[in-house]
Amino acid sequence: MKAQHKLPQDSDKRYRFVFEKAEEGIILVHAKTGRIEDVNPSLVKLIGIQKSDLLGKRFEEAGFWEKKAQGLEFLKKLREKEQLCLEHVRLETASGRSIEVEFVSNLYTVDNVDLIQCNIRDITQNKKLEGSLEYLAHYDVLTGLANRSLFFTQVTSGLERARRSKKTCAVFFIDLDNSKSINDTMGHSMGDELLKDTALKLKSCVREIDIVGRLGGDEFIIFMEDLENSESARFVAERIRAKFNRSRYIAGSDIFITVSIGIAIFPHDGKGLEELLKNADTAMYSAKNSGKNTYCFFDQEMNRVVVRKLKMEHGLRQALANSNFRLFYQPIVAIDGSKIRGFEALLRWFPVEGGLISPDEFIPAAEQNGLIIPIGEWVLNEACRFNKKLMDKSAKKSIVSVNVSVEQLKRKDFLEVIRNAIDKSGIPADCLEIEITESLMIQSFDNAISILKDIRSLGVQIALDDFGSGYSSLVHLQQLPINLLKIDRFFIEDMVNDPQRRIMIPAIIDLAHKLGLKVVAEGVETEPQLTKLSADKCDFFQGYLFSKAVPEDKAYILIV
Ligand code: C2E
Ligand code: CA
Ligand code: CA
Repeated sequence: MKAQHKLPQDSDKRYRFVFEKAEEGIILVHAKTGRIEDVNPSLVKLIGIQKSDLLGKRFEEAGFWEKKAQGLEFLKKLREKEQLCLEHVRLETASGRSIEVEFVSNLYTVDNVDLIQCNIRDITQNKKLEGSLEYLAHYDVLTGLANRSLFFTQVTSGLERARRSKKTCAVFFIDLDNSKSINDTMGHSMGDELLKDTALKLKSCVREIDIVGRLGGDEFIIFMEDLENSESARFVAERIRAKFNRSRYIAGSDIFITVSIGIAIFPHDGKGLEELLKNADTAMYSAKNSGKNTYCFFDQEMNRVVVRKLKMEHGLRQALANSNFRLFYQPIVAIDGSKIRGFEALLRWFPVEGGLISPDEFIPAAEQNGLIIPIGEWVLNEACRFNKKLMDKSAKKSIVSVNVSVEQLKRKDFLEVIRNAIDKSGIPADCLEIEITESLMIQSFDNAISILKDIRSLGVQIALDDFGSGYSSLVHLQQLPINLLKIDRFFIEDMVNDPQRRIMIPAIIDLAHKLGLKVVAEGVETEPQLTKLSADKCDFFQGYLFSKAVPEDKAYILIV
């Protein structure tokens, strides 16, 4: 807080008081002689020249003008006008520093003497502030790179030049691979350091004339003007990839974060910046899809892939909103055919345009774009509702099996989603079974097993699906809190003729039993398969031999 001063009563004294205490520098000049009559402490402080060195001096010789002529010209102006306000006046302080001031003057007559009072305010700081606002508008504060707006302005003129001179240019779209995990595990300040380091590394890979910018998040862009041909862009992409393909030492830690790069070439891949950026972005996604840590040049086929994906996503959203999904149910039957254990819920999508899209096509898409979360929740609720109705109608216990994707299991609220589905439908928890695949273990996120254990402790059953189809490992059988094993239908397909499978299937069943698991054989289509499975002591089977997946109404008939 500023000191509170008491104002003197006497008007002369009061003027003196204001003069002495004013924050602005004040200088009083005798209009006729042009000599300095008085200066206040703020002026002395601002200019750095002692009061004694100023009093009695001619205005233009006061020592703060950058040129003497400037002082003379000023005095002339001040004498002519009763009031004058001049901005952007440059003065020089005793130490030689140039300052920018605002100059306000008033002409008074006191005791028949004309006096000019000049109030001088330092606006250098304001200018600096304006400068930094200007900076903020054009540069990314964190990395010091051009921001989107500056990048666009500079690149637009670069493209204009290239158009006239018929030169090749390249736009790079660069995204850090898996940088989210750094923010999540090591905190945001580490994330910031990583971005700063990335900016420096990128700059070191390009020429002085190339423009490097940050679009936001962990997305960077580079514009390279005046290239020999597109091979020069490949050369730079290789250099960037190599630079990031080793660990870097950041804030005390060794970090290994690679980049994916998409490249669009002017004029081949687009005439304007918007189009080039969009296509470079598409190429970057393609680089990500081909395993990251690489670069891709844009080509038209990529656009078609993107369009197909977007269409699929749009369709799935609509299907969710308009209830175009249905669950079909395939019975899982005791190996001797004596009773139905329950049903596997299999999702069907009936698009408005007619036809049917296979879940093998739309489930992976929904997993990629995140729609599997709401879709999967719908499936769980719908399957439980069905099972309640089925058990009420038949007065028999039945287990409904629901396929669950890894993406769902990664969600913190998944346990809650399951609990809700059970509560809402009113089925006993052990009448719900979730089917998981081993991809879960390959992606091995830390707490997969602990989540599954929580689910088990609700009473819900867990089946390991598609066993034998890919990375099946007997080790997983021991680690996972499961109670049922489903042997994949591709394994069953050839079981009767393939001597190896003839041996392996009973071995798997035997091992599963020793681990306390029941076994379902999937995709059983023929009698010989069933006979062999029965001899091998398999517990249940599922497949076209008994029934395909059927709509809800048919399932009610099957169970009675
Ligand atoms: P899956 O879990 O292995 O499902 C078994 C697939 O085998 C089903 O294909 C079923 O219709 C088919 N099938 C059953 N018996 C036979 C048979 O005897 N012979 C032959 N050739 N095929 C048989 P569908 O319904 O096309 O499902 C394909 C996959 O889509 C499923 O494989 C499952 O991984 C996934 N899926 C289906 N519904 C859902 C769901 O609601 N959520 C999730 N996350 N995935 C689902
Ligand atoms: Ca399944
Ligand atoms: Ca399966």
